[in-house]
Amino acid sequence: MIKNSIKSQISTLFQKCDILDIELIIAHVLKKDRVFIVTYPEYKLTQKEQTKITALCDKRANDYPLAYIIGNKEFYNRTFIVSENTLVPRPETELLVSNVISFVTQNNNSDTLIIDIGTGTGIIPITLSKELIQHNISSTILATDISLDALNIAKLNAKSNNVTNIKFYISDLLQNIELYEMILATSHNNIIITANLPYVDNSIKNTLLNQPESKALKYEPSIALWSKDSGLHHYKKLINHTIQLHNQLSTTKNIISFYEIDPDQSSLLTKYFDTKISKDIKLIYTKDLSKKDRTLQWTLK
Ligand code: GLN
Repeated sequence: MIKNSIKSQISTLFQKCDILDIELIIAHVLKKDRVFIVTYPEYKLTQKEQTKITALCDKRANDYPLAYIIGNKEFYNRTFIVSENTLVPRPETELLVSNVISFVTQNNNSDTLIIDIGTGTGIIPITLSKELIQHNISSTILATDISLDALNIAKLNAKSNNVTNIKFYISDLLQNIELYEMILATSHNNIIITANLPYVDNSIKNTLLNQPESKALKYEPSIALWSKDSGLHHYKKLINHTIQLHNQLSTTKNIISFYEIDPDQSSLLTKYFDTKISKDIKLIYTKDLSKKDRTLQWTLK
């Protein structure tokens, strides 16, 4: 099977790269889909194409993410553009998105403002927009990022997925004044804050970058991944901003937050809320497919 295929024309690749990756790289270089690669084994690669494919497979063999090579990644059955300025979408983030969809649909709630903090590629707000529209729920959605490059990718993704109801803000968490005022002035009674902030513990960075399964992290944007304080620096800051915002809102408003976390952080977060936040808070963790805490939902009672 390998012999009569396009990829057999560059036999050295097989020592380095996964077969599926090679096919996707060839498809990317030829600007065709994978079906073409499998269906037309007689296609003769030019020298230029061979050189390009070999160089990309070499990169891939050094753990460079396939998504950066081909420029996109699937998330929730849709395609999203990615660049080195954005995190590669992870399947575990689908759990956070489906939790929000369940929450909004179960409460049958069109009276919702959704704010995604640290949006990156925009997968969370864009998927929420598409899915909620399918449930006939039209929500108002805001999305922020501290990185202008990431925000530009998110805007491209909104466009390529035909989503027009998201307003994008450059902001460090909730600190953009225009954004903050917009939230304070909202007529919606339910405010949902979603976040997949950087949460990988930067004190174990060197260890992680030396482990085969997490080596690829070195190619992803540091500001999207690493955080001080057991990885909780950014979330703790957002928790405090959210409580401050809640204090300034009228009493009819609820804020419900959904965060993606590392499973080791659930006990640390519970302790943080218990000891440092003098408010009555309801916490709900949900588990991923490996039965580990992967999202935190919290709200002020
Ligand atoms: N889930 C990612 C990882 O562990 C981290 C994502 C993040 O920091 N937001 O590789």
